[in-house]
Amino acid sequence: EPIIRLESVCKIYGEFQALSGVDLVISKGEKVIICGPSGSGKSTLIRCINHIERHNRGRIVVNGMELTNNGKDIAAVRRDTGMVFQNFNLFPHLTILDNCCLAPMRVKGIGREKARELAIHFLHRVRIADQAGKYPSQLSGGQQQRAAIARALCMQPRIMLFDEPTSALDPEMVKEVLETMKSLASDGMTMLCVTHEMGFAREVADRIVFMDRGAIVEQSDPATFFSAP
Ligand code: ADP
Ligand code: ADP
Repeated sequence: EPIIRLESVCKIYGEFQALSGVDLVISKGEKVIICGPSGSGKSTLIRCINHIERHNRGRIVVNGMELTNNGKDIAAVRRDTGMVFQNFNLFPHLTILDNCCLAPMRVKGIGREKARELAIHFLHRVRIADQAGKYPSQLSGGQQQRAAIARALCMQPRIMLFDEPTSALDPEMVKEVLETMKSLASDGMTMLCVTHEMGFAREVADRIVFMDRGAIVEQSDPATFFSAP
């Protein structure tokens, strides 16, 4: 049983068809890189998987739960899918520690002490536990993105979704974030990642999915993908 399954998924913004019949099956533990030109629907695809965006047609099943537009399964899917955005999306008025504690306390009903323990554990995991008491603006971009990864991990999701996690970073910060992601990959986490970092893709991906104009036009293992036609 795959952990993510999309069947003929369509997404329309007004009259613009951002996804036009996407089929995608992802196994537990698989690392899938999504690439393709700007505007091809990559971001829309992963936003539909955790239901930030609602698809208009087709089926999306995540960890055995189908995303219907009225389901309480949506909350469960959000819990199962940690999302990392291009622009970190940390709350500026909360410390890194509190950013990490918030969702587990609110969404999972975990107590403050337990949430703190989890947060410290995952901040260590991404090597910024020493920054826990600071506010996002006091951290470098790379540190903020690692904090955002820790925050997602604190929900103990089964799947991590990354939407261009290094695109907003200065070049010297990209490496530290990719190293963190590689380390998660080697832990066996299921990962779906939109990125232009082809070196990372080659190293980490089980499969590379290439999108164009709202459709998956090619998918293959990195060796095949990068071999010259
Ligand atoms: P990518 O991530 O591949 O750059 P996106 O999924 O962000 O592509 O966008 C796909 C297309 O859908 C683009 O043409 C974009 O302008 C359009 N789009 C994305 N979000 C919206 C929205 N909220 N409203 C209208 N059009 C949108
Ligand atoms: P990305 O491709 O990284 O998602 P975009 O610049 O395409 O970045 O989109 C940023 C935000 O703007 C997203 O929330 C997207 O849904 C929205 N958006 C993108 N294109 C449009 C559009 N044509 N009309 C309205 N919203 C859009």
